[in-house]
Amino acid sequence: MLFVILGLFSMAHYIIITGGVVSGLGKGITTASIGKLLQMHGYNVTAMKIDPYINCDAGTLRPTEHGEVWVTEDGGEIDQDLGHYERFLDINIPKYHNITTGQVYGTVIEKERKGEYLGKTVQPIPHVTNEIKERIKKPSKEKSYDFILVEIGGTVGDYENILFLEAVRQMKLEGEDVIFIHVTYVPILDALGEAKTKPTQHSVKLLREIGIQPDFIVARSEKPLDDVRKEKIALFCNVHEEEVISNPNIDNVYAVPLILEEQQLCQKILHKLNLKKDTRNLKPWRDFIENIRNLDKTVTIGIVGKYFDIGTFKLSDSYISVIEAVKHAAWNNNYKPEIQWIDSKLFEKHPEKLETLDGIDGVIVPGGFGLSGIEGKIETIRYVREHNIPYLGLCLGMQLAVVEYARNVCNLKNAQSTEIDAETPYPVIDVIPSQVKILQESRYGGTMRLGAYPAVLKRGTLVHQLYGKDKIYERHRHRYEVNPGYIEILEKNGLIFSGRSPDGILMEFLEIPGHPFFVATQAHPEFKSRPMKPAPLFNGLIKAAVKKQETLISN
Ligand code: GLN
Repeated sequence: MLFVILGLFSMAHYIIITGGVVSGLGKGITTASIGKLLQMHGYNVTAMKIDPYINCDAGTLRPTEHGEVWVTEDGGEIDQDLGHYERFLDINIPKYHNITTGQVYGTVIEKERKGEYLGKTVQPIPHVTNEIKERIKKPSKEKSYDFILVEIGGTVGDYENILFLEAVRQMKLEGEDVIFIHVTYVPILDALGEAKTKPTQHSVKLLREIGIQPDFIVARSEKPLDDVRKEKIALFCNVHEEEVISNPNIDNVYAVPLILEEQQLCQKILHKLNLKKDTRNLKPWRDFIENIRNLDKTVTIGIVGKYFDIGTFKLSDSYISVIEAVKHAAWNNNYKPEIQWIDSKLFEKHPEKLETLDGIDGVIVPGGFGLSGIEGKIETIRYVREHNIPYLGLCLGMQLAVVEYARNVCNLKNAQSTEIDAETPYPVIDVIPSQVKILQESRYGGTMRLGAYPAVLKRGTLVHQLYGKDKIYERHRHRYEVNPGYIEILEKNGLIFSGRSPDGILMEFLEIPGHPFFVATQAHPEFKSRPMKPAPLFNGLIKAAVKKQETLISN
């Protein structure tokens, strides 16, 4: 019994990942890869992300500024890095694994008002840092983990992450098992053709001024780091040469764990922590990567994006989970995915361009908010429905499929979602009743229908066949739904609602029988797709897309 209790409370080891030189280094992928490596060596791993912004969560951030909002099983709206962790580690991560400055200060201020620090001057150190430490240690109190990876957002030297760095510095001093991994960038200057280590030296210097000596330096660069550069980084950054790990650009992010394994990062971490167990098994992962690298056939999926027009952001960041889900499903079917971005606004100006969709094997209208490009999306859906092009609608993509069907098949002229036109004569998509008050009071943060909800699938439908189950759970993030008043007319005209909430009120899935693949869902199945376990609806889309391609070729 004592043994069991001791086992349950065995101490978790913390791996703290910091970033240096520039943001957008791929720290999230590096963190996920280190976690995957430890997992493949037989350890029980989870991960956390610290975001130093004041927002309480990412739900109120614009995708073009911060990338996609990741939705957790328990309804958190958080940073997309949590998506990398879930995909690589194949685990569900709860929302409290994302810590923001807003949450931390919110709690400290609340405690101060309640008199919990009565008589004390409440200060960033120790009160805020204590709150941070408590949050970092929380997972180990709820579950037994061997490793908790904690990625600290931003770059060392940023004003806003300083208290988080101070908190993790204290954790090590207080006796927690902590390994610090600093991810930096080693630029190769065009004019010189030489990799420069100076920015890395400076960023480690900044880290050491804060009192943190990194155990490992993971150097991101365009090409693998040579021994000369490794030696130099080691000397100037106070680490051994073998503690400098090269993490060059590669063809596939899922291969990063293998690059780290080649340099024995995991064994080196285990050695530092005196951990003996190593039941390494990388074969399935290696085979998975090998298989992807040998694929020669391509399937093309068009994603009708909307977050196109702001600054120099990467479009792919706004739709990262959708893209990854397409990749997983394509790989699973032994095809290389090719994503084509479709700007629906183009079709509004040039309807004749809709014909370009014929050259695409399958189309996705993903989730979205607001008015822009809506009519173009509806026209896209009409085109793919009428021309038998495989279609998958996600959340907004389902809502607009209903609008399109109502207008063009049920003859409900100018049908619309009330999110887009409050005065529409046929509000086929309307606010969920529980959301009305929330919107009236402008309580926007964390109040949508969020997280995993069950749906009961109708036997004999394509969706039921794809999931192979009667009841499934998918993650949601929306305020609008199919207006129950229009279900009868839509179904009478051939649309099938193949999945509903268990009480039968909310329409969760739809499909059009007779079409090669026309499926849409109010949920976001992309959040549950994993590299070796594609999401069923994406898998179905790819299979139909491949079929369309094959028929085209044989004709
Ligand atoms: N804007 C729509 C809603 O709130 C769709 C949201 C989404 O696509 N995630 O219902």
